[in-house]
Amino acid sequence: MVKAPVEEHPKAAFGWAARDSSGLLSPFNFSRRETGEKDVRFKVLYCGICHSDLHVVKNEWGNTVYPVVPGHELVGIVTEVGTKVQKFKTGDKVGVGCLVGACHSCNNCANDLENYCSKVIFTYGGSKYHDGTTTYGGYSDTMVADEHYIVRIPDNVPLDASAPLLCAGITVYSPLRYFGFDKPGLNIGVVGLGGLGHVAVKFAKAMGVKVTVISTSPNKKKEAIDHLGADSFLVSTDQDQMLAAMGTLDGIVDTVSAVHPLPTLIGLLKSHAKLVMVGAPDKPLELPAFPLLLGRKTVAGSCIGGMKETQEMIDFAAKHNITADIEVIPIDYVNTAMDRLAKGDVKYRFVIDIGKTLKC
Ligand SMILES: [Zn+2]
Ligand SMILES: [Zn+2]
Repeated sequence: MVKAPVEEHPKAAFGWAARDSSGLLSPFNFSRRETGEKDVRFKVLYCGICHSDLHVVKNEWGNTVYPVVPGHELVGIVTEVGTKVQKFKTGDKVGVGCLVGACHSCNNCANDLENYCSKVIFTYGGSKYHDGTTTYGGYSDTMVADEHYIVRIPDNVPLDASAPLLCAGITVYSPLRYFGFDKPGLNIGVVGLGGLGHVAVKFAKAMGVKVTVISTSPNKKKEAIDHLGADSFLVSTDQDQMLAAMGTLDGIVDTVSAVHPLPTLIGLLKSHAKLVMVGAPDKPLELPAFPLLLGRKTVAGSCIGGMKETQEMIDFAAKHNITADIEVIPIDYVNTAMDRLAKGDVKYRFVIDIGKTLKC
């Protein structure tokens, strides 16, 4: 017999869930497991709203299992640790990103790439934990996870503005490192200036590269250059500007999660350079071969990062004072925030103040 979410586990939990593809979120009673011997339990204080949350609550990727408690950018304070936990203690500042489990026996897992494990367990969105129960995300009062999936948040960083780094941050940090876009002197393009793009600019600048932001919105130029520190700005719909910039970029991180044309972006690349997609449009993109052949160019993809690299990213962010630009909201504003996010009306990430505003 299938148990109701509130009866699956001994520990009561409370959050906000979507029940159907309207995506409307409302209060939800469920439960979480006891603190196992390798588990860390924490009180959630803040949770970022990722664009994936919006896709999942509305079932735009077609694989949502309802009810769904979204949220994979959660941070808070440890309240309990299991007897075999080594890295954390009560009172520590911690977070959980997109992952809470993997197989730990495949090649990817052996290489600290749990994010590419075929048995990866996501923090929410239809994943089943090892015990067969559904995982629930961070729009909730508490979280429990194996210490391997817990990220330490350094003391000198603000918890609220660091929360989005757990997904948005690692999503852009990992490809910048893996594809070698982190060498000082390179000119790296960042397509889209939203939740992902704005932190991509900050990380790339901290790595010492020149950054060119490519956006459909001319009115983001001042912000990109004056506030985020980008070196130049291209309006992707301005043919003259795009033509003048052909063949000037050593790599591109494309953060756009809507369907958009790739050939002009590929045209911006130097020969042998790579366009790396980190956004996830819900429909296939057109990819003509000619722009790739001429110049031996590559279109690649990248999906978040492993736990070791996620910790490295947070520590790098702390060292270089990198946080997300956020708008903190109460939980009862979350449906309005989702509507605004769908329209791109946020600079640049909503973060829910769970600690002060989530009341059961
Ligand atoms: Zn995310
Ligand atoms: Zn694995």
